Amino acid sequence: MFDPKDLMDRLSRADPTYYTLGICEKIASKLDRILELKTERNAVVLAHNYQRPEIFEIADFTGDSLGLSLSAAEVKDADVIVFCGVHFMAETAKVVSPSKKVILPNLQAGCSLADTADAEDVRVRIAELREQYPDLGVVCYVNTTAAVKAQCDACCTSANAVGVIQAMPNDVILYIPDENMAAHAQKRIPEKIIIPWEGNCYVHHEITAESVKHIKEIRPNMKVLVHPECREDVVKLADAALSTSGMIKFAQKSDANEFLAVTECGLSDLLTIEVPDKQFFRACKICRFMKMITLDNIIQTLETLQPEITLPEDVRAGAERSIKRMFELTSPDRLPEALVVS
Ligand code: SF4
Repeated sequence: MFDPKDLMDRLSRADPTYYTLGICEKIASKLDRILELKTERNAVVLAHNYQRPEIFEIADFTGDSLGLSLSAAEVKDADVIVFCGVHFMAETAKVVSPSKKVILPNLQAGCSLADTADAEDVRVRIAELREQYPDLGVVCYVNTTAAVKAQCDACCTSANAVGVIQAMPNDVILYIPDENMAAHAQKRIPEKIIIPWEGNCYVHHEITAESVKHIKEIRPNMKVLVHPECREDVVKLADAALSTSGMIKFAQKSDANEFLAVTECGLSDLLTIEVPDKQFFRACKICRFMKMITLDNIIQTLETLQPEITLPEDVRAGAERSIKRMFELTSPDRLPEALVVS
């Protein structure tokens, strides 16, 4: 049973105005109901780092999209995966856990970045570019649909995009779908031609260098952690350009006491709750898709086991191949068990 007072103590670190005792009493009763349903359904709940703080309370795993999917795949006896995140992430969970039922609490939770790369448009663009560059390699960020991943040579994450592109045998790479990450990689790998897809995450793209500089002037000693989906002029201001999970590890291990996490605001909430002895400043934006997941729709999804995410087997297997290739290129000795056995 969740204690509203304990909840308030924890959650109010992220937002003292919203998480009052009255609100936390309501949240506690919903969390209790979710715990009952999780047991009934034999479900694993995954929460992306950008979710609402109260959702972290009932998550079996919190993290970034691929890490979450691989963690859920390792829970052998679970029947159901509830993905508190966006649509492409739930697809990735299905790719690596084909025998489990994967449900997404709100089907409207899409991703403006993944949506820029329609699978048919990708097919046409690859065919066009291969006329010009027969040796073209195609790398897609994990923030793509399974149908796009299935057409790529290798998938990558924000943590290993540069490493994957470097390890590809091709001199010309089409990078799908984030143009900011493509620019970031091109700076670091000048020996290759990296052709960007025209897409960006509206959340990270809206964060400006001016807003980060302004906070840096006020707190000159703080460490600036920037997500590589940000524009290159923002990435340049970073002490470290990291994935969301990388930012958490950095903040936990660093000797510094003050940080600015330049990404979606949910990560600042999580850091504030999980690392209470350090101070986190904000130059963040809210992702409207991530915030579409609520305790109410998690309850509903566990009651009905809908909406379920399904994939045609050829798409699932193709996406799995591109994820596997990512590990083969960057860490062949650490292929996750979920990918070894399938
Ligand atoms: S933060 Fe950006 S990339 Fe992540 S889900 Fe939202 S729109 Fe997509």
